[in-house]
Amino acid sequence: MIVGTAPRPGGRKQANRDAILELLREHRQTTRTELAHLSGLSKATVTEIVDLLLGEGFVREVGKRQAGRGRSQVVLEFDPEARLVLGAQFDDGSCTAVLADLCARPRLRAIRPIHGPDPAGFVDALCACVEELRPQAHAPILGLGVGAPGSVEPAGRRVTISVPYGWRDVPLADLLEARLDLPVVAANRAKVAALGEVWQGAHETIDDLVYVHVGSGIAAGMVVNGALSFGSSGGAGELGHVTVIPDGPVCGCGNRGCLHTVASEPAIIRLARAKARQVEGTSALSRLTGGLLGQVSLELVRQAAEQGDAAALETLAEAAAHLGLALANVVNLVNPRMVVIGGPIAEIGEPFLAPLRREVRRRALWDALAGLEIVPSALGHDAGAIGAAALFLERLESIPGPARMSGPPLAASGELRSQHGARPTNPRRAPAATGRRGTRRASRAGDGKGGLMGG
Ligand SMILES: [Zn+2]
Repeated sequence: MIVGTAPRPGGRKQANRDAILELLREHRQTTRTELAHLSGLSKATVTEIVDLLLGEGFVREVGKRQAGRGRSQVVLEFDPEARLVLGAQFDDGSCTAVLADLCARPRLRAIRPIHGPDPAGFVDALCACVEELRPQAHAPILGLGVGAPGSVEPAGRRVTISVPYGWRDVPLADLLEARLDLPVVAANRAKVAALGEVWQGAHETIDDLVYVHVGSGIAAGMVVNGALSFGSSGGAGELGHVTVIPDGPVCGCGNRGCLHTVASEPAIIRLARAKARQVEGTSALSRLTGGLLGQVSLELVRQAAEQGDAAALETLAEAAAHLGLALANVVNLVNPRMVVIGGPIAEIGEPFLAPLRREVRRRALWDALAGLEIVPSALGHDAGAIGAAALFLERLESIPGPARMSGPPLAASGELRSQHGARPTNPRRAPAATGRRGTRRASRAGDGKGGLMGG
């Protein structure tokens, strides 16, 4: 695996091809003249590269455009379905995978149940999803991105720790690559879901966003200035292990009073059960479980809250207040434009979100709150799988043409970059990002003078 500053495979010609492909991806419809202008390459070089990309199927000619009094120009359109990627997320109890195009737009979805915490069961479920989707692909599949439940080391190969599942150092990418014969890259599921919201959510112009997953665990994905934060060891965003009660209950991580112990799904269920017991059979939860409070689930807490049940509403308000306290600190530190709440808790809606918003507003600084929105995920269960596909695309150093499709896995041949490589290419954010990304791409592929190299 190489980092972004390493020499690019294929040299100058490859770099120029990649740069033109990148511009086509950002602009969707353009002309050879515009590409020459945007890239700084000669028209002859652009024409040669476009011919190559036409042959590879990445671009097609879609009519003509009259520019001023000059000759009409052929309009080129990027085909995002020329290659496909897979993205998958492990939820609690299931695996969702999507087959997505080069803009991370999902085209097909597969879901499989997962039984128990054993990593082998997770791998089996994901492989079954991939085997369902693969035969339906109408273009070559480049690889697979995975949203994993736990911390993933920066290279995206191993889950170092998953507190809810008791995992330590699980070589997830190796296990999947051995089964699927595809390059694989993984990151924490909240991180990839944050990418999903930025690439394909309802918030396309937002560069600063925090996604919070609340389920069996709690984790955040932070997109700052358009780039996902990983931290030095991949552990940025471990919101569930932020201390909210200094002498609180012992957490699976060894600390006391972590947010996980008071606001995760198991904590909410425990608290709801205790509150229902206090009112001895009068809670809607007792009715919904037939008096068997051991069967309380997050879904039953949602139903009870919908019926106005005091025990359920108080439980959700307490958990939301703890999350709000932690989140107010994040808001002060990161100053996001939007906080997206995802995972099973998002389905509860206002009975959780309203007290959460209240607590954040009560504690965060007013200027960090200006313009801040706290919303449920627009993509729901698919956020992680879509974001995992986006993660794979971001780590891809170069989208291969047909000649390289039959070669060894990209990861093995060193063409996936680490998260320290160049910033993401999100075609939906092209208008805002073109300048910055164009500059970075140009300096990466260029001759040191800020322009692209001539062919
Ligand atoms: Zn902890």
